[in-house]
Amino acid sequence: MARLPLSIHPIPGETAMSLASRLAEVNHVPMREFLRDMGIGINSLIAGEGAAVSQLAELSGVPVAELRRGTPRTSDGQVWFAGNCFPAARVGGRKVRGCLDCLKGQPGLRGIWPLPFVTICPEHNRPLVTLWTIQDKLDRHDVTRRLPDLDLAPEGRPEPRDPSKFDLWWLDRLEGNTAFDHWLDQFDLHASAQFCLELGRAAIATTVPKWRALRDDEQWWPADVGFRLCTGGEEALRVALADLQHLMGRPEEGPRKIFGGLHDLLAADLCPKELRPFQSILRQHILKTWPLAPGDEVLGEPVLRRESISLSALA
Ligand SMILES: [Zn+2]
Repeated sequence: MARLPLSIHPIPGETAMSLASRLAEVNHVPMREFLRDMGIGINSLIAGEGAAVSQLAELSGVPVAELRRGTPRTSDGQVWFAGNCFPAARVGGRKVRGCLDCLKGQPGLRGIWPLPFVTICPEHNRPLVTLWTIQDKLDRHDVTRRLPDLDLAPEGRPEPRDPSKFDLWWLDRLEGNTAFDHWLDQFDLHASAQFCLELGRAAIATTVPKWRALRDDEQWWPADVGFRLCTGGEEALRVALADLQHLMGRPEEGPRKIFGGLHDLLAADLCPKELRPFQSILRQHILKTWPLAPGDEVLGEPVLRRESISLSALA
């Protein structure tokens, strides 16, 4: 397929749909019409299918490897990005998020923005915001049509913040790097982040009253708290769990009351295999520290014998 006479500069990390929107604009046709005329299937391109992405790369003159790198690939209810897998329900959706500073400089949507737990742009230290909310799958990616309605004035942007330790680790892994050498690197990436989030929430609940919901600009905080508690590996994590337990309530209160969402995440009847290493750590901890008896259940499994030892022996 020949390259179009009016091609465009690549934007690092841009998705194929965003590139298609820009390409349609310089060729003065609506995006839907453009894709139809070029014989590129809309759903194939939205799903990031190899053939559709290659076709677009060839038309635009953008290197295909670069375009694939920025385009999440959806298949069988899962999304793949930089070798990592996420449940499709956790990626993208009607709310399209992005960094307003990036868009001011380079008007394209980055593939990293719709991924779960991505809350900040490390280049501008700017929290991501919801850019627009659109039901139609094609329209929501049509960045050149949406951008004129977006307020890109500096005063309309959220306050910058430094990326947290969790943010830096997470973004590093999404870039395909493992410079951090963290205990969590041995586990599934998304499962690790889920664990950090719920562990952090449980820890925060010891200091922030339950009625006080976290503000939008505090949403990054729990995952970072959990991440820091995991930094020392499994042994330090067991101590952290014991500390939490001391702070959270009386021993006669059940594990669910103490660990809240963390308990629910790991107690799910069909706990995904990616979360099982964390399930096993919490189960061992509960078995050792709660006054349980045969007949009780811990995270969906029956207790076979009494194992409980005192918390103070662990701390
Ligand atoms: Zn940015």
